Amino acid sequence: MSEINFAGIVDNSTIDYPEKLSAVVYLCGCPYRCPWCQNAELVFNEGNCKPTGIDEIIDQLKENFLIQAVCVTGGEPLMQKETIEFLKRIKSETNLLLKVDTNGYFPERLKEALPLLDFFTTDVKAPLNERYGEVVGLPDLWQKIVDRAEKSLSILKKWKHPKEARTTIVPGLIDKEEDIMGIAKLVDEVGFTHYTLQQFRAERTLDPEYEKIPSPSPELMQKLGRIAKKHLSKTKVQIVTQQNGFEEIR
Ligand code: SF4
Repeated sequence: MSEINFAGIVDNSTIDYPEKLSAVVYLCGCPYRCPWCQNAELVFNEGNCKPTGIDEIIDQLKENFLIQAVCVTGGEPLMQKETIEFLKRIKSETNLLLKVDTNGYFPERLKEALPLLDFFTTDVKAPLNERYGEVVGLPDLWQKIVDRAEKSLSILKKWKHPKEARTTIVPGLIDKEEDIMGIAKLVDEVGFTHYTLQQFRAERTLDPEYEKIPSPSPELMQKLGRIAKKHLSKTKVQIVTQQNGFEEIR
């Protein structure tokens, strides 16, 4: 029986699949070390992470009669090779719409996953240069990380289904107008249908120093959202903040 390193399921979410009620499956492991990450237990395979039968997780999804979709997230869900089998099983054994959230580090696995998916979310954490390494906490590996992110984006460019890019705004790391302009141009080139700017939250961060940094204000988030929207007339641009939830920028 195949197993996957799994931390748990949220049974009902209204924010993880556009306009659908979804379950959210959390898989463990991540190659990045974003200092502001709030999922350190998943990144380091700690907490609830344990090898779990794929059968068991599929049964849990089948028993959930309320949901229309499932979102597979992490950590980095494409880090485990078993994830492809897991996605195939969801697709063949349920009628659920299927979405994966990834950081773009595994282009080959992404290629295998895409034909199984109905929606896709990838992080574009920074402009594609040495800053990317800094933002994901691995400055010495920036070139390798950027090469992989570029490969993932070129695969996604050919995928003609709804797809979302996501950037977390972290003060001092990624919060400048020019950062967002550069990322928005990339988002446009790849043809993302959705672009979301998320507000960094100073809680349970992977690097405890980041707990001292205040979250970006809703006003800054709106300003950056408007800058992105200038370059993204055909894309649904939204910001998400603790204060106001999701807000579309028009
Ligand atoms: S925020 Fe960074 S370290 Fe945390 S799970 Fe996402 S990619 Fe991995």
